[in-house]
Amino acid sequence: MTRSKQFRRKRAALERRLRTWWKVGRGLLSTRHPLLVHLIPMRRCNLSCTYCNEYDDFSAPVPTAEMFRRVDRLAGLGTSVITISGGEPTLHPDLDEIIARIRQHGMIAGLITNGYLLTPERIERLNRAGLEYLQISIDNVTPDEVSKKSLKVLDRKLQWLAEHAEFHVNINSVVGGGIRTPEDALVIARRSLELGLTSSVGIIHDGGGQLRPLGPVEQKVYREIKALQRQGLFRLHGLGFAPRLDHFQEDIANGHPHEWRCRAGARYLYICEDGLVHYCSQQRGYPGIPLEQYTPGDLRREYFTQKGCAPNCTISCVQQIAMVDNWRHPQTLPSPRPQPDHLAQLQTTMREES
Ligand code: SF4
Ligand code: SF4
Repeated sequence: MTRSKQFRRKRAALERRLRTWWKVGRGLLSTRHPLLVHLIPMRRCNLSCTYCNEYDDFSAPVPTAEMFRRVDRLAGLGTSVITISGGEPTLHPDLDEIIARIRQHGMIAGLITNGYLLTPERIERLNRAGLEYLQISIDNVTPDEVSKKSLKVLDRKLQWLAEHAEFHVNINSVVGGGIRTPEDALVIARRSLELGLTSSVGIIHDGGGQLRPLGPVEQKVYREIKALQRQGLFRLHGLGFAPRLDHFQEDIANGHPHEWRCRAGARYLYICEDGLVHYCSQQRGYPGIPLEQYTPGDLRREYFTQKGCAPNCTISCVQQIAMVDNWRHPQTLPSPRPQPDHLAQLQTTMREES
C-alpha cells in the first residue's frame, strides 16, 4: 500500500470516529430523531439464500430521483446514520450518487452487501463516494444449498477490501438454525481479523425476527468468537479494555428473553423499496406509513410504544441503537401487535376448538 493511501486511510478513520462520537452525543442529548435507518434501493438480489425473506429475483431499482427524495426527507427528520441495504444494493446503478447524497447532508453512510460484485475499481469508487462503513455477512466456508455467501468465494474480495477500502469493513458471521457447520463462523471470524477487518457474530432468527435457542456446539462457537472479537476491538481502538455492547446477545445465546425497550419506528427505521416506514425487516407492515408523511409526531408515538416481539428479538442493530435510551423513558403505549405468546396461545386454543 502506498504512503498516500495509508495517510488517507488514517485520516478517514479519525474523521469517522469523531463523527460517530458526535452523533452518539447528539443522540444522548435528544430523543426526537432517528439514529439509524436501513434504506432499501433494490429488492432484487443476485443470490437466493434459502433462509432469507428480504429479496426477490425480478424487481427494478428504485428510481434515483426517488431515492434522493427519501434521503432528503430522512435528513429533514434529523437522521444520524443511513445504511443502504437490500436485496443487493450494489445492483443499483446509482449507488455511489445515493451515498454521496447521504454525505452531503452530513449523515453517516453505511452499506450492507453480499460482496459478490466488489472489485478493486468498485471499492475505489465507494471510497470516492464517501462510504464510511461496510458490512458483509458470510454464512459458511464452502457454498451449500442454503447459502453461497461463503468464505471460499469471498476471500479474494476481503483481501481487496483490506488493501483498497478507506471505509471501515466489518465481517459478520452467523450461528444458529440452518447453518450446517457452526465451526465455520469461527474460521470466518479468524480470517477477518487476520486481514485487519473487524468481525461480529449474529444469531439467526426465525421469520419474525424471534429467537431460536442455540445448541451446545453453537454456544461454544459463539463464545469463542466473542473472545476473538474483544481482541479485535482491542487492536482496532488501542484501548486498555474492550467495550461490551452486547449483553443482550448473552441472553439470546442462552435462550433467555431479554429486557429492553425497542425504539423501532422512532430511533430505528426500516424504509422499504416502496418508501414505507416499518419497524424492522422482520416486522414489515407496522407502522407502514409512507416516509413523506412520517412526522415528528409519529417518531414520538413509536418511541413510547411497546413492541410485543422485544423479549425474544435477535435483531442486533436495533438492540444496539436502543442502548442509547434503554435507561430512560419507559414505554407506556401498548404494542399494536399481539404478543407472540398470545399468538401461540390463540393457535393452541383454535387447534383445541377445531
Ligand atoms: S445475499 Fe442477502 S439479500 Fe440476498 S438472498 Fe442472501 S441474505 Fe437475502
Ligand atoms: S423487537 Fe423491534 S427490532 Fe425486534 S423484531 Fe420487534 S420490532 Fe423488530
